[in-house]
Amino acid sequence: MSKNKIVFLDQSKSPTHYYNILADLPTPMAPPLHPATKQPVVPEDLTPIFAKELIEQEMSGERYIEIPDEVQDLYKLSRPTPLIRASNLEKVLDTPAKIYFKYEGANPTGSHKTNTSIPQAYYNKKQGIKNLVTETGAGQWGCSLALACKHFDMGCEVFMVKVSYEQKPYRKTFMGLFGATVHASPTNLTNSGRNVLAKDPNSPGSLGIAISEAVEVAVQRDDTNYTLGSVLNHVMLHQTIIGQEAKIQMELIDEYPDVVIGCVGGGSNFAGIAFPFVQDKLSGAKKNLEIIGVEPSSCPTLTKGKFEYDFGDEAGFTPLMKMYTLGHDFIPPSIHAGGLRYHGASPIVSHLYHEGIIGASAYDQLDIFKAAQLFAQAEAIVPAPESSHAIKEAIEQALKCKESGEKKTILFNLSGHGFLDLGSYEKFLNNELD
Ligand SMILES: *Cc1c(COP(=O)(O)O)cnc(C)c1O
Repeated sequence: MSKNKIVFLDQSKSPTHYYNILADLPTPMAPPLHPATKQPVVPEDLTPIFAKELIEQEMSGERYIEIPDEVQDLYKLSRPTPLIRASNLEKVLDTPAKIYFKYEGANPTGSHKTNTSIPQAYYNKKQGIKNLVTETGAGQWGCSLALACKHFDMGCEVFMVKVSYEQKPYRKTFMGLFGATVHASPTNLTNSGRNVLAKDPNSPGSLGIAISEAVEVAVQRDDTNYTLGSVLNHVMLHQTIIGQEAKIQMELIDEYPDVVIGCVGGGSNFAGIAFPFVQDKLSGAKKNLEIIGVEPSSCPTLTKGKFEYDFGDEAGFTPLMKMYTLGHDFIPPSIHAGGLRYHGASPIVSHLYHEGIIGASAYDQLDIFKAAQLFAQAEAIVPAPESSHAIKEAIEQALKCKESGEKKTILFNLSGHGFLDLGSYEKFLNNELD
């Protein structure tokens, strides 16, 4: 009898708590600093734009934080997501390694981002907030927040980077379908937007500019809060549902990975798959576990950035965070993995990298698309260009095993599907990628 390809987890076995890695860090992290006073941020600094319970989570030292029932219920739209053995890819590569991936493309908006948009909307709603405002690059985060806001009967306003607004109309349509208002940023609705437009009326926009616009709107309205889809500690926390499920699923088939891989934009899907395994490495139970974050060589935050205090946005409204950064005025080249075009990275992921607990690698766009095509043909899933960075590293690891004869178990996160990225694949097929 052939072995199962997919490991499903019964919904009754879903994790009931988020895992907070802040409780287990071997060395303390540098605190975020107030942008004006340069003093460590206190909760009151953040209450004008964030829900109180999210601020508590941001700074919490509790190892496990309970997932509210309403959030667990909504996760059941798609969770637990399947753990899949990439057995066809193994055959194509002719590797003795075993390759598994967690398929986050199974979520309602096609990526892992609903794992955090749902609790973020929930905690804001609970506190009486009526509207959420945010930025989005390629649109995955905007779609996920729009869906969560509709469920909790809240307004949703999205500042979408103008070049994506024009190039990726379908994610804008998705947001509209779920009742969100979408602006092409920079707009003339905010001072930050007007400043940029005064200098360059044809500005294509950037994630940094869109964050400045969204924060400005949230600060001005009492019934409106701001939300961020990556980078912050509470976002990493919510995503740990991915790795916790994966751990249970691997246990069910008597497996444990030797290598855990995720792509890194702001760091959230990587944190999601990796942190529950980092826990085992930190405790000494799995000392040799290798954990790798993968980024584009054109936006090489971990591999080429500096570990220093920097702003999260262009205008300098956000707290200063100690992180690997290419500089808050860095405008990444317009590669097709839009979700990986960010100048900084999660302070926790940065800290773990700085301490040598996790590793990192970087690949060129063309190699990423070749890996994506190989994977799609083998496993019949069209991956998001972002996720394909993790695929590329998994393939490299499997090929190393082929050389050495090692039978490693490789686990990677497939953060999203690429059905709305077919325009990018079209360019790849026509040899039009830089
Ligand atoms: C947003 C996104 C990313 C990058 O964000 P992280 O916070 O680094 O996970 C990666 N993959 C997909 C599919 C995304 O939507």
